[in-house]
Amino acid sequence: MKKKLAERMGRIEESITIAITAKAKEMNAAGIKILSFGAGEPDFDTPDNIKEAAIKAIRNGFTKYTAAGGINELKDAIIEKEKKVNGVEYKRNEICVSAGGKQNLFNLSQVLFEEGDEVIILSPYWVTYEAIVKYANAVPVVIKASDKTGFVPTQEQLKEAITPKTKAIILNNPSNPTGGVYEKKDLEFLAELALKNDFWVISDEMYESIVYDNYKPVSIASFSKGIKDKTIVVNGVSKTYSMTGWRIGYSCGDSEITENMIKLQSQSTSNPTSIAQMAALEALIGPQDSVGVMRKEFEKRRNYIINALNSIIGITCFKPKGAFYVFPNISSLYGRSINGKTINNSMDFANVLLDEAKVAVVPGIGFGDDNYVRLSFATSMQVIQEGIEAIKEFVSKLK
Ligand SMILES: *Cc1c(COP(=O)(O)O)cnc(C)c1O
Repeated sequence: MKKKLAERMGRIEESITIAITAKAKEMNAAGIKILSFGAGEPDFDTPDNIKEAAIKAIRNGFTKYTAAGGINELKDAIIEKEKKVNGVEYKRNEICVSAGGKQNLFNLSQVLFEEGDEVIILSPYWVTYEAIVKYANAVPVVIKASDKTGFVPTQEQLKEAITPKTKAIILNNPSNPTGGVYEKKDLEFLAELALKNDFWVISDEMYESIVYDNYKPVSIASFSKGIKDKTIVVNGVSKTYSMTGWRIGYSCGDSEITENMIKLQSQSTSNPTSIAQMAALEALIGPQDSVGVMRKEFEKRRNYIINALNSIIGITCFKPKGAFYVFPNISSLYGRSINGKTINNSMDFANVLLDEAKVAVVPGIGFGDDNYVRLSFATSMQVIQEGIEAIKEFVSKLK
């Protein structure tokens, strides 16, 4: 009998974090109130001016195919934004607009990676990075950094991971799931390595506007013409403007790579939605007040959640400088139990916490590190307060 599925489908799996989320949903449906820290998206509504732009696009009949890589007005707005925020100048043929930054990353991985290539991924990592590298038949080379270094790998770790087969490194600044950020000197070192060893830098800057404590994000592409030419920046409107469902992301970099990403897109999904492109255009060129309002609210919640978590004996939590996640270390609780259930890893912790305290968190193993769990504070202050209180009580009951 012929094999049913292509071999490549065996190389990736559905995120294991789905298991906990699905269980929490089931419990919710059964009438059990769950306090959830699982959200991977802002809890704010999309700002009205952006919604209006989309409605206007529909009314004006802007409802047909567009150029596969996005409309010129949107590309120009992206170019303007990158110039203003990061001081890097791109041309239209260096921009690809896709159905979310995730599609940009997927396109990129298919255009750049092949069998034999090694791609450096920094753990804790966003799950998709590992999947797209494997799907392209390349090998993920994972470097692990811990809360002790603010989740930034050391220079030695980076140097050791590089081989003649290194094709690229995937960088996420600020990071999902840790909220860790890179300082300029860390990025300068990385840029030097990339130029010396001739590999690509894929810089996922999705959380660039959600930063705290006056941290000023810097794009690695801004250091020199040399590193700009070796970097593909991936960004989008999902997190900054609370537009996850609209599906608009973009990439900036090398024109030949961009051209090939668009070619792949033209043979798969075609253009990103015309209406959503108009909404993204308004997001980028319209009033920016809502970005500051959301950022401020996130900072207030971060300050609360970080203090509350660190007051729990047995849990320590790194204070994030960006994104809307905290990534507490729970490993000192391993070996302890409650009602006959022992916690030996992050999956156990998430499972037992959900059963016993009705609180949903995401196990760190899904991000490559079993010593942690991820909590999103893209939820109301009330859920945060009640949820952390419930975690505190849960931990105090562990034997
Ligand atoms: C949310 C997210 C993305 C992509 O989001 P899109 O909605 O596809 O634009 C990319 N990288 C990270 C780290 C994210 O958290």
